[in-house]
Amino acid sequence: MKKILLSIFVLMFIFLTGCASEDKKVETQLEKIIARDVLVVGVKTDSKPFGYINRNTGEIEGFDIDIAKYIAKDMLGSERKIKLVPVTPNTRIEAILSGQVDMVMATMSITPQRQFLIDFTQPYYIAGQTVMVKEDSTIQNFSDLRKKTTIVVLGTTTEQNIRRIIPTARLSGYKNYEEAFKAFKEGKADAFSSDNTILSGFLMDNKGYRILKNKISQEPYAIGIMKNEEDNSLKKNLDIIIHRMQKDGTIKSLKKKWRV
Ligand code: GLU
Repeated sequence: MKKILLSIFVLMFIFLTGCASEDKKVETQLEKIIARDVLVVGVKTDSKPFGYINRNTGEIEGFDIDIAKYIAKDMLGSERKIKLVPVTPNTRIEAILSGQVDMVMATMSITPQRQFLIDFTQPYYIAGQTVMVKEDSTIQNFSDLRKKTTIVVLGTTTEQNIRRIIPTARLSGYKNYEEAFKAFKEGKADAFSSDNTILSGFLMDNKGYRILKNKISQEPYAIGIMKNEEDNSLKKNLDIIIHRMQKDGTIKSLKKKWRV
């Protein structure tokens, strides 16, 4: 009898400790970040003032970066516990899907197509698509882009919107904003379309251009993360942080700081 009881006890012990170690293996997205003690964030390096390289310091900075640092401080206790990974519109979703980054904060709009692949937090900023032209250009409206050449960055909502709204516009696509603006400056197109935020950034540093007042879209910027139906720990935590930043005036003061 004693032997049977002992065997039952041993079996129960093995079963329970087995369960415990199984539980330990299945970390939530949030627990993984906390265990690593570093938040890995995909950011822009060519989209001033949201994410760009400060030429004097060589550091990546901007509105998106400040929000990412606030999140790192909230999650891990220090804004320095962050690793910034440069992404472009073409690489940012893949960076999430492959696990290269925990999240993307890179002027990325929520769209239904992207929601098939990744999850988004609630939006933290609302931008809109517009167009930049030379100061003396005859282009005044989006309809003037018909049969004209417009530069866009590939993989953006900008590209999709123009194709849909002005199908007769000729598009010239580039991989990133640095190359796109360089081509525009060299006179390779009549117009350069993007979000008002990004175009205003180019206007800050360059003379001889203007931006149309009209916007053809609303671009709600949100943080992109890995989709995981069973684990909403990260999304929940990020939504709480964004909500707090909106309530406590942090977003407002960052908008003022970056003039956006
Ligand atoms: N916000 C737009 C998008 O998500 C354009 C800007 C960008 O891609 O960075 O596609």
